Amino acid sequence: MGERFSLIDIAIMAVSGLRFNSTNGVEQQEIHMRGSGKMTHPLTASIALPDWWGEAVPDDLILTTSEAQMEFAIGLAERNVAADTGGPFGAAIFREEGTLIAAGVNRVVASSMAIAHAEMVAFAMAGCAIGHHDIASVGRTTLVATTEPCAMCLGAVGWSGVTSLVCGARDEDARSVGFDEGPKPSHWVSDLEAVGIRVETDVLRDRAAQVLVHYVESGGIIYNGRAALGESPDA
Ligand SMILES: [Zn+2]
Repeated sequence: MGERFSLIDIAIMAVSGLRFNSTNGVEQQEIHMRGSGKMTHPLTASIALPDWWGEAVPDDLILTTSEAQMEFAIGLAERNVAADTGGPFGAAIFREEGTLIAAGVNRVVASSMAIAHAEMVAFAMAGCAIGHHDIASVGRTTLVATTEPCAMCLGAVGWSGVTSLVCGARDEDARSVGFDEGPKPSHWVSDLEAVGIRVETDVLRDRAAQVLVHYVESGGIIYNGRAALGESPDA
């Protein structure tokens, strides 16, 4: 039980019968829909942060510049790769004055959950941290993402309530190592700004992109959708 779980997680586990371990986050009692095996329907789904989280994410962290906030998020991505706990992406959400609300790293493979991108994990953790679905309920906030958001996370940026987005590596950096960013509109920056979300790009881009390269060179899994059917964009 090296993972960090909230009391709500633990209560849900007790009710649902889910068991957690330190490597996969969720150890399901049945393997769902693999082959012709028995299928059970889980009562809940939960994303667990890696067990090194407490060492990397201090309480009461305040970082006031985009560069410092990005450096922190890149550090999470680097550690996620080094510890073999997920993909090479990190994200963090800060209040306007620089206080960290929540952060996330990619946990797709570890959580058996396609949506567990770093940004989505950060949104989920932020909602738990503030007790509200709308992050704007605590005022103006910034999402810092080590790579420009994919199509899914781009949509979630709009729903999350954050008022600024700061990006490191570009889409093309992710695609160049094999990750699918999905069908994003080419004018996504102006689309966000049109609805009042300020966007800053290329913040420590080279360092953020280097994490992607390092992940692939170290044998990391490219976990795009449909890869199991041989239909992923990089197949
Ligand atoms: Zn994403």
